[in-house]
Amino acid sequence: MIELKDVSKTFTLHNQNSAVIEVINDVSLSVAKGECVALTGASGAGKSTLMRMIYGNYMTQAGEILIGNVDLVQAEPRDIIALRRDVLGYVSQFLRVVPRVPTLDVVAEPLRSVGVSSAEAEARAKELLSQLNIPERLWSLSPTTFSGGEQQRVNIARGFAHAYPAMLLDEPTASLDAANREVVLSLIEQAKVRGAAIIGIFHDEAARDRVCDREIDVSRFTPVAA
Ligand code: ADP
Repeated sequence: MIELKDVSKTFTLHNQNSAVIEVINDVSLSVAKGECVALTGASGAGKSTLMRMIYGNYMTQAGEILIGNVDLVQAEPRDIIALRRDVLGYVSQFLRVVPRVPTLDVVAEPLRSVGVSSAEAEARAKELLSQLNIPERLWSLSPTTFSGGEQQRVNIARGFAHAYPAMLLDEPTASLDAANREVVLSLIEQAKVRGAAIIGIFHDEAARDRVCDREIDVSRFTPVAA
């Protein structure tokens, strides 16, 4: 479902004499339906960079990134937008929302955008917000004023609302209490059972061992200094 072939990434620092930094070289990996793969490696190894490339936020200089049959490296912006709406979910570490949109709509929106009826989308949003222990009195408010932990749980509810065939998870259990961490781990397990292909960064080792089938150490793709 997710396949990377000989993917490489460099950053060009235009404000520093156009210095070129090679971050990762020749990454090839594939993640099957129903499989969860953890990206590991020391800080600075390139885990977040690789995730952003797979989501199409960072440009990729070489190789192919196939999500289903779409190559993100070559795709037009409108194809990337459609892919993100229908196929590829991303739970980032931080919630980014349009101000003043109520929490219930923030969570229901990914479902409405794939054509699910408002009533059904709201019902699913309510179910997720309850599961993630967001008090009902907050559902009609914008999450912009919520605590960090509440925002993270709204972010997770939104990320799991639509049953994306492929998902990217950036530290989904970071700073959650035990009860909410358990909810998130079972959401991941359920996504695997329905056939989602998942790539995640998990600093929580116990969480990683529980939900991930394999680990890929990104530092093995770090270019060797000349
Ligand atoms: P990790 O997530 O494994 O901690 P990162 O992907 O954040 O690692 O970073 C990998 C390397 O890429 C680091 O050396 C970092 O400085 C560099 N890097 C990341 N993003 C940028 C950027 N936007 N511009 C320049 N260098 C970057």
